[in-house]
Amino acid sequence: TWGEIREQLEKRLGKHNYTTWIEPLKLSVLKNGVAHFEVPTTFFGDWVSRNYGEHIRNHLNAAGAEISRVEFAVGAGAVAAKPMRTAAKPAPRASEKTAARSRLRDDDLPGAPLDARFTFDSFVVGKPNELAHAAARRVAEGGPVTFNPLFLYGGVGLGKTHLMHAIAHELQQRKPDLRVLYLSAEQFMYRFVQSLRDRSVMDFKEMFRSVDVLMVDDVQFIAGKDSTQEEFFHTFNALVDQNKQIVISADRAPGEIKDLEERIKSRLQCGLVVDLHPTDYELRLGILQQKAEFYRDQYKGLVIAPGVLEFLAHRISTNVRVLEGALTRLFAFASLVGREITLDLTQDCLADILRASDRKVTIEEIQRKVAEHYNIRLSDMIGPKRLRNIARPRQVAMYLAKQLTPRSLPEIGRRFGGRDHTTIMHGVRKIEELMATDSQLADDLQLLRRLLQG
Ligand code: ADP
Ligand code: MG
Repeated sequence: TWGEIREQLEKRLGKHNYTTWIEPLKLSVLKNGVAHFEVPTTFFGDWVSRNYGEHIRNHLNAAGAEISRVEFAVGAGAVAAKPMRTAAKPAPRASEKTAARSRLRDDDLPGAPLDARFTFDSFVVGKPNELAHAAARRVAEGGPVTFNPLFLYGGVGLGKTHLMHAIAHELQQRKPDLRVLYLSAEQFMYRFVQSLRDRSVMDFKEMFRSVDVLMVDDVQFIAGKDSTQEEFFHTFNALVDQNKQIVISADRAPGEIKDLEERIKSRLQCGLVVDLHPTDYELRLGILQQKAEFYRDQYKGLVIAPGVLEFLAHRISTNVRVLEGALTRLFAFASLVGREITLDLTQDCLADILRASDRKVTIEEIQRKVAEHYNIRLSDMIGPKRLRNIARPRQVAMYLAKQLTPRSLPEIGRRFGGRDHTTIMHGVRKIEELMATDSQLADDLQLLRRLLQG
């Protein structure tokens, strides 16, 4: 059935692509080897056909449907592209996700659908993301442009897309007349290539130059795509010249995106560059508490034992998407079997996720990598030297040990040559403090984390 195929597609394409592009599809009929689907807009149909048509056909055939073609047409019941106000308190229930999805403004702006759940309200702020959050808030005020572009970067699942959608939602509410355009770099390329094919490049240029706020997500995608880069560069400059706000995200800092033209890199660095750090324990716990709050309303009467959220915050990786997935499954499972969410139940239900994020980073490994990185001896890590060029790397290692392992401060102290837990605490604080202002240090940490966590 289509329901089963949808599940397979979700596994195959990932949750995000699935909710954005597959969930809204309605299978209307299978006839003469053609599968007809209803889609909300022509653009949507084009996109799905181009990117997922083949997948859909293959899955249908694998289920024995004997389909030679898949067609998409705008459905009679579809509300073409009327902008929809986003609900004030969006519920995270799967069935409502599609309904709550709104399109950005008018149909002449080819923006990507916004996820109604990604608001500032639902964004939990902690140390690792407070700068990014503050900058996003500033842009969302819609006041005079103070930095351009805002460049947000960070690893997968740390909230870049969430923040960009939140900006769009907020601007829609505060300044309904602003033309806000949010799309992924991939979509930017797709639109551009399409305009080349349709000989409508001028329309394309005009459209992109007429927006008040342009947000391009995952810009690393256009690296190595020469003509798209070129066009992006011109669009970018034209908007900056008109003093229009631009917001860009990427998975790494501008200077580190390979195969991106130098002039674009330097342009991207002109504004405010902020990174989303990997989540720390407190932030993870905050996010879990917020989500658990939602679920408690949804699954009335479900009890969650003390310590469960803390356990998850300790044990599950820094990627918030993984964290959310774990909690969703846990609540669904507990409500199914009608049991209290205990630590035991959690360990049973999430065994695979826990195992996967169990790729244990050891304190020894951290000390070794940090010593290598700063070119000091491993023995100096645990030795007594207080020289700064040794003490600082040692503090970096302490900080990483606290962040990446579940070890307590006294335990960490023991592995650092029997230091006192207050010394470790001091080292961790010192690094946290420096990180905010010392971008070299922040980069070092990011690199080391990547090395250690694979
Ligand atoms: P990215 O674009 O950086 O890969 P996303 O913005 O898609 O990450 O975030 C992944 C998931 O985690 C989303 O469901 C998002 O709502 C959630 N998320 C990330 N950071 C936070 C946060 N600080 N508070 C609440 N939810 C968050
Ligand atoms: Mg994203």
